[in-house]
Amino acid sequence: MAKVLIIGAGGVATVAAHKVAQNIDVFGEMVIASRTKSKCDALAADILRREGVTARTAQVDADSVEQLVALFSAEKPDIVMNLALPYQDLTIMEACLQAGCNYLDTANYEPKDEAHFEYSWQWAFRERFEQAGLTAILGCGFDPGVTSLFTAYAAKHHFSEIQYLDIVDCNAGNHHKAFATNFNPEINIREITQKGLYWEDGKWIETEPMEIHQPLTYPGIGPKESYLLHHEEIESLVINYPTIRRARFWMTFGQQYLTYLDVIQNIGMSRIDEVEYEAPLADEAADGKQKSVKVKIVPLQFLKAVLPNPQDLGQNYDGETSIGCRIRGIGKDGAEHTYYVYNNCSHQAAFEETGMQGVSYTTGVPAMIGAKLFMQGLWKKSGVHNVEEFDPDPFMEQLNVQGLPWHEIHDGDLEL
Ligand code: NDP
Repeated sequence: MAKVLIIGAGGVATVAAHKVAQNIDVFGEMVIASRTKSKCDALAADILRREGVTARTAQVDADSVEQLVALFSAEKPDIVMNLALPYQDLTIMEACLQAGCNYLDTANYEPKDEAHFEYSWQWAFRERFEQAGLTAILGCGFDPGVTSLFTAYAAKHHFSEIQYLDIVDCNAGNHHKAFATNFNPEINIREITQKGLYWEDGKWIETEPMEIHQPLTYPGIGPKESYLLHHEEIESLVINYPTIRRARFWMTFGQQYLTYLDVIQNIGMSRIDEVEYEAPLADEAADGKQKSVKVKIVPLQFLKAVLPNPQDLGQNYDGETSIGCRIRGIGKDGAEHTYYVYNNCSHQAAFEETGMQGVSYTTGVPAMIGAKLFMQGLWKKSGVHNVEEFDPDPFMEQLNVQGLPWHEIHDGDLEL
């Protein structure tokens, strides 16, 4: 019988697991494994209640190749969906090779001690996956993921030459908290406090963090200030579509969010190096005296512990996300055209279906679709591939069926 193994039990994994359950005829059997087994058990219970599907659970430390190989060898899944954190990408890929499993993720590898992400570490696995006849699907969330496939779809059906690509990501939702991140706070804050980067005329151009910004109008939402960020899908897209002259990524932020972020940085709470701290022990010593212990803490990891958990934002989250690709280039007819393809996703609808907010939903649904297409043999290709290297058509069809319908505007004003 077919089998999928999900690693992680956070916001994204929760959505993906619900969606796997809704497509269990293709997946066969589901196992959910994560660091904290009680979270996997709670998720399995919710899936049984909502979808009537049983999932087995397991405990695993995904930083340990040995533990992963033992789990994969015992379970023998067809595909492992890595929905833990980017830190675990390499250990999980290594374990997949050793145990003979296929692989999928939603974010590229990032070392814990350096806020820097790029694909080179994962692309280094290409030959070994090819030789083993195994498929690794990289970046199958929304961005990267859907945005990469929107680009592939535009190249396949509408353009003979894509010249300008702007990926635009707007979250116009309101969770009614003073400050919270929409996915893992540690990963999110590391990403957006980095320098900006974009591709122009064959080279990378670096900017100061949030240096370049302008208002952009999002469908059904209106104008929102949008900031140029470095985002990982640009790295593979400019290689796979070499006609691209300029590729940029924009994300909206509210003024309040940016003010909090500024404070977090200025007071040192976004630091990722260890700080020594003398902490009082929770229990008094037998003689009644207060003892203390020296501990090492990483300020950003401590901040994550006190910020709202993105998984708990869903209840009162209203509004929607709008993410898409704005493309200009030479159409199949030889004339210049513009094209805007996007999806809007309601936080409330996502919450009602899966118990999670829209950002987890827009990531977990594409991850399930990628794994489903693999299981159906449509996205089976030995080696390590970014999602745009697969046929976008069945993926685009599934987006419409699985809760992320998309829309297109031909020859409109791209504002960029
Ligand atoms: P969460 O923090 O909610 O969940 C992460 C899960 O991974 C938790 O269940 C955590 O376990 C588990 N985990 C962490 N470390 C380990 C480990 N060593 N071994 C086993 N399990 C571990 O994150 P999200 O669900 O918000 O994000 C998941 C992934 O999705 C991230 O990689 C993120 O970058 C990516 N993402 C991608 C997007 C896209 O569009 N492409 C958008 C948003 C997110 P525990 O509960 O014990 O901490």
